Amino acid sequence: MKFNYPVLANPEICQHCKTCMAACPVKAIKDIDPRFEVDISKCATRSDCFSCVMHCKSHALVLKQADTKEKINILTG
Ligand code: SF4
Ligand code: SF4
Repeated sequence: MKFNYPVLANPEICQHCKTCMAACPVKAIKDIDPRFEVDISKCATRSDCFSCVMHCKSHALVLKQADTKEKINILTG
């Protein structure tokens, strides 16, 4: 099954404010400074969600399609 998960499309403009982490209803985003880690298995439980992208005031995040078989994705920043 395919679903959407966040990626940092523009790492240079990420302010590291962590708003995306706070906005995630399933706490799928973790800060492993200087990067973020997305638990894909948690994100997949909200397959139509884009809360993190909507809350990013810097517009640094976009959604990308992935397979639910993936577990972890690193957002480089
Ligand atoms: S991706 Fe956006 S919301 Fe998340 S830490 Fe960076 S600037 Fe903040
Ligand atoms: S798309 Fe939704 S569930 Fe997935 S990481 Fe972003 S806020 Fe969390």
